Amino acid sequence: MLNISFFLPTEILHGSEVIRRYRDRLKEFGRKALLVTGRHSARLSGALEDVVAALDHCGIGYQVFDQVENNPSLANVAAGAKVARQLEPDFIIGIGGGSPLDAAKAIAVLAVNKFSPERLYDGGYPHPPLPVVAVPTTAGTGSEVTQYSVLTLTDKQTKAAFGDRSIFPRLAFLDYRYTESLELEPTRNTAVDALSHLIEAFLSRRAGDFSDMLVESGLRLWGRALDDLKSAAFSTGMRDSLLSASTLGGMAIAHTGTTVVHALGYPLTFFHGIPHGKVNGLLLAEYLRYNQQHAKSRVARVLKILNLKDIGEFKELMQQLLPCELKLAPEQINEYGIAASRTKNANHSLGEVSSEICIEILSKSLG
Ligand code: NAP
Ligand code: FE
Repeated sequence: MLNISFFLPTEILHGSEVIRRYRDRLKEFGRKALLVTGRHSARLSGALEDVVAALDHCGIGYQVFDQVENNPSLANVAAGAKVARQLEPDFIIGIGGGSPLDAAKAIAVLAVNKFSPERLYDGGYPHPPLPVVAVPTTAGTGSEVTQYSVLTLTDKQTKAAFGDRSIFPRLAFLDYRYTESLELEPTRNTAVDALSHLIEAFLSRRAGDFSDMLVESGLRLWGRALDDLKSAAFSTGMRDSLLSASTLGGMAIAHTGTTVVHALGYPLTFFHGIPHGKVNGLLLAEYLRYNQQHAKSRVARVLKILNLKDIGEFKELMQQLLPCELKLAPEQINEYGIAASRTKNANHSLGEVSSEICIEILSKSLG
């Protein structure tokens, strides 16, 4: 395993009431902000109120773009960019789950680069994106510490990530209290996205000592929350552990990327509306099984940290946390499997992930 480089330019401020305690830090980003959120969760979680109080305290003007959809499309971020170009903010604050955080990154590029959103995927932007401050309200994507933004490509009928060093958030405020308004199902779904990032980073051909260290710590924190996730009793400690696990997962995939699990998940979200984290969880056991031939000891290590005896028990756990009725038809399995095998994510997996392997993972998971 190689460690080629480690780059993580996001400052993380973590803890209860962290925005109020560090509100003066916002002054360094300028005098005017665009707040990018979904329709409800920024308000519901209390995060928007805290951000607005901090901005008022600092004398920073702001406007809210609260139209981010789940799994935002290119058109959705273009609409946000239009608002940004009119406002001419100095920086962007993304508040919400992965969808608003990813939209905030795209809007930060498009606010100062007058090109179509498709061009986001080429990188090398003529003008440096506006700085992004990230306030996650889910504990799952780790988007607050990644250089990725995942958008829905309606024409291509799937989702795809673009990545560029210039879109790493500059600052992330992590306060588990904002995740307390999440109900049981999204709490579990997003928690499993974090688990998926940790496992995929560990079972990636780009894994190295630094990403392994993040994964091992993240898995231990995730394991600590497992009893609560199963019983649906949400303690403060569980919320805080999951948020940290999610950020560690994000730090890991910022270096390794994700694998065929995410690649297979994107069409399942696009065509069947299954939430992102949930779909990963439904595929993870079979990804572990596939990796038995490439990294047996790593698979065993994942199970050991999670205190699970074998892959069968892992699969039962996922089925318990993520009940799902979906059964795919053979032609759907073929179509999604072939598409996934052609993605960059698939190449990050261990071994040579052919379309046959993608089809096998999908059919054993949802066939
Ligand atoms: P999400 O799509 O951001 O949000 C899902 C739902 O949860 C929305 O309805 C949202 O409401 C609601 N919600 C969020 N926080 C809440 C809270 N505290 N209380 C109550 N409801 C809340 O979900 P996500 O799983 O966090 O993000 C998924 C997206 O992130 C996908 O597009 C995925 O591909 C992407 N992703 C990105 C990365 C990366 O590195 N950039 C990594 C993995 C995944 P509102 O609509 O009102 O906000
Ligand atoms: Fe993910």
